[in-house]
Amino acid sequence: MTAPPLIELRDITRTYRTGALAVEVLHGIDLAIHAGEFVAIMGASGSGKSTLMNLIGCLDRPTGGRYLFAGRDVSTLDRDALALLRRDAFGFIFQQYNLLPTASAVENVEVPAIYAGLPRVRRLARAREILIRLGLGDRLDHRPNQLSGGQQQRVSIARALMNGGRVILADEPTGALDSRSGREVLALLRQLNADGHTVVLITHAPEVAAEAGRVVTIADGHVVSDDGPAPGRPESEVAPPVPARTGGVGPDMLEAVKMALRSLRASLFRTVLTLLGIVIGVGSVVAMLAIGEGARLDVVGRIQAMGSNLLLVRPGAPNLRFTVGGSVATLVPADADEIRLLPHVRGAVPEMQGSVTVRLGSVDYQTMVDATSAEFPIPREWPTASGIFFDQADVRSYAPVAVLGQTVLKALLPEGGDPLGRYVLLNNVPFQVIGVMATKGATPYGGDMDDVVFVPLSTGGLRLLGQRHLRSITVQVDDVAEIAATEARIKALLTERHRTVDFQIRNMASIIETVEQTQNTLTVLLGSIAAISLLVGGIGVMNIMLVSVTERTREIGVRMATGARTWNILLQFITEAIVVCAIGGVLGVGGGIATALVVRALGSTVVLSLPPVLLAFGCAFATGLVFGFMPARKAARLDPVVALGAE
Ligand code: ADP
Ligand code: MG
Repeated sequence: MTAPPLIELRDITRTYRTGALAVEVLHGIDLAIHAGEFVAIMGASGSGKSTLMNLIGCLDRPTGGRYLFAGRDVSTLDRDALALLRRDAFGFIFQQYNLLPTASAVENVEVPAIYAGLPRVRRLARAREILIRLGLGDRLDHRPNQLSGGQQQRVSIARALMNGGRVILADEPTGALDSRSGREVLALLRQLNADGHTVVLITHAPEVAAEAGRVVTIADGHVVSDDGPAPGRPESEVAPPVPARTGGVGPDMLEAVKMALRSLRASLFRTVLTLLGIVIGVGSVVAMLAIGEGARLDVVGRIQAMGSNLLLVRPGAPNLRFTVGGSVATLVPADADEIRLLPHVRGAVPEMQGSVTVRLGSVDYQTMVDATSAEFPIPREWPTASGIFFDQADVRSYAPVAVLGQTVLKALLPEGGDPLGRYVLLNNVPFQVIGVMATKGATPYGGDMDDVVFVPLSTGGLRLLGQRHLRSITVQVDDVAEIAATEARIKALLTERHRTVDFQIRNMASIIETVEQTQNTLTVLLGSIAAISLLVGGIGVMNIMLVSVTERTREIGVRMATGARTWNILLQFITEAIVVCAIGGVLGVGGGIATALVVRALGSTVVLSLPPVLLAFGCAFATGLVFGFMPARKAARLDPVVALGAE
């Protein structure tokens, strides 16, 4: 033999460390295997055969000594370099076949080529071709549990050949097979060797070892006998070359997504449960934001309906909150008359309020009386539905006339009918009904604006409320731009008239702003509750992914043995998490929109817009990325030998 050996081990040792305990399993192995040889490594159970094979197959690194593969020292290569070497040079056959249980024969066989970057079409063609060559043409789409042991082992041999399989490493390949299937597998290995593959067969059985051209016996970590290189074998480079690679960047995203879908389908119920957290999280983000935004528009709209060019003057010192009862007696009707004369003031509507009992015929109804001036309907943009509002002459002459709100009308005349011209008793004082207001609706704070009777300020103050102090003056400004200046002028005027600041002026524009802020806070609050459920969903995803990694440790080991690099495994598991979350995101967006539509059908304002939908979906996606990362990294960092050895 003149050519240098393909595999050359020089004084290789391997020490396992378990805690503080260090056990040397291989004690200085020297072994040279030439290309094209068929070598059996034989030894009793526990003698170190598998340990040696893992070293030869670059699944593991020696503790000491040198390993030259095709003349190149590989004992110090890093993880990914070893993965590339495994992918290009080795094909593994395991005692337990180690097929992916959820994948068909073809899908199992194509795995190594995925990591070699072979395009899908060529990959499938090659996988089929090899399987047909190994006599499995009628089992291409069968799952491992639909195949016999011998057939499964042939699938795993096909997988070992997928990337060329220059060196076939078979660890007890017949150990789990009946004798007939075992003989078939051995015949296959002999055939492969005849085709030019270098075959290393590990076995504890002498009759199996006898199939090989050369037997190396090890005992207790030492080589105790070696036939020496078998003569007359064909030389190296007879094995089919490694298929051409497209850059060798590993599986593309599409491939990862496909694998993810397959493994998610395999545990469908669990996937659905995992999805649920994300669905609920995303759904509530979408629904909550739509409902929150709807509520905001609703309230702001209602305030705006009251007029944004209004100033509201109320009695009471400015540092007090609004005094709802109107018990502070500082504003008088003359104040309104003076304000009316200021520039840019279109109107100044004084109001007094109190509760009153209305009687029409035999019906009594408790409501609110609003004593005001004739111009009231103008700034409020609140017309009469029938009849008229009282005029200035009525106010001046203390006319006993009343205008009813719709709620009062319905209470007094539940059967319908025309109240105009009839007399009602307000606290036993007769008033003639001259008009009915149009429907105004609810106040921003939930009250009913139509539950009211309007009477002239003069009549109401004198005969119903018995006082002359106002509850408010509503000032309408003719130009919204002048609202601040007008507010200042009113303040100056009233301060001069009262000789103190015993009133407050509220700017409707600023009230709207305040309410908007409040509603924004509410929306943020709803949004954060939803975000928390998304977080919980994400933790669920992480949990299930960790379980999945644990369950599929062996699969990860097989993928690593066939050439998957750290990045491939990382990508695969992150993709799985992202796929779960993305599916959950889509369902959640649908559910959220449906919920919002139901709420809308129930009568609330709901604003559906794209940004929250994108936000929620993006959050789901990010959740997958963030919570998938830890399990994926755990998977990617597994040691190939440990992963393969997992139960
Ligand atoms: P064989 O394949 O010949 O039966 P192995 O190579 O699997 O033997 O194991 C050789 C010895 O190394 C055994 O005593 C076994 O207990 C020990 N061993 C194998 N793997 C490990 C490990 N990961 N950690 C500690 N000891 C190990
Ligand atoms: Mg073993």
